[in-house]
Amino acid sequence: MELLLLVAVSLPPKALDLLGPVQEVQTVETPFGRVGPLALRVDGAGHRIWIAPYSGLPTRTDPRATLVAAKELGIQRVLAWDEGVAINPVLGRGQTLLVADYIDFTRHRPTTFFQEEGVVGLEQVPPVCPEIYRALAAALPGAVGGVYLGVDGPRRETAAEARMYRRWGADVVGQNLVPEIGLAAELELCYAGLVTVTHLGADQPPLPPHGEVRQGLEQVLDALPRVLTGLEGPRSCGCPRRLEGARSRGLLREAWWREV
Ligand SMILES: [Zn+2]
Repeated sequence: MELLLLVAVSLPPKALDLLGPVQEVQTVETPFGRVGPLALRVDGAGHRIWIAPYSGLPTRTDPRATLVAAKELGIQRVLAWDEGVAINPVLGRGQTLLVADYIDFTRHRPTTFFQEEGVVGLEQVPPVCPEIYRALAAALPGAVGGVYLGVDGPRRETAAEARMYRRWGADVVGQNLVPEIGLAAELELCYAGLVTVTHLGADQPPLPPHGEVRQGLEQVLDALPRVLTGLEGPRSCGCPRRLEGARSRGLLREAWWREV
């Protein structure tokens, strides 16, 4: 079992040691820039977890580069752990949300590898890998599923925007899952996301913190080994065949992503 974990939350040093010691460090050159260093951790059960610190800063790695690097390393599954703003007033700080669907409200990021390929009309596919989603839900019984709205940032939403996003059906807003989630589908990678709520929406009255975000992060950390165990075995989801239709119509060359 091999997985790339994109970590966009702030964790204390050594928090990821429970995923095993670092056994390898890699930097990958891609047509979209350099990715890494990525640290490979291997736990006692032999799970191989590549860790990539990930942030929504303007200096962030090009999202296309991150996913091409995963593909080049032979990684088939990607899990993104983001922090987010609760738009649904039912959600509190520290709550874990599993991304069941998403809205792309980014405006300045590359959203497809096929800009110049002329590939149109790709099939509708599940927004996240159902296999990783199930493993997350089993390992995190207290988590809820919801809709993630991706924005460019770095500024926070206004109260008016928070109310608008809620009417659109969003539960959380974040800056690190979109457009990666759609780009991963184009590379036939399995991709899923989970969000730790760190802030309440700008339209909510502020509440003094009492350690609930730290507790929420710890719950996810504790669950990660169980998530990995739940993903043992070959992929049985439809993610590796997402482009089959386009390929069978002659719209894609084999290994096109090596040439992007
Ligand atoms: Zn999948």
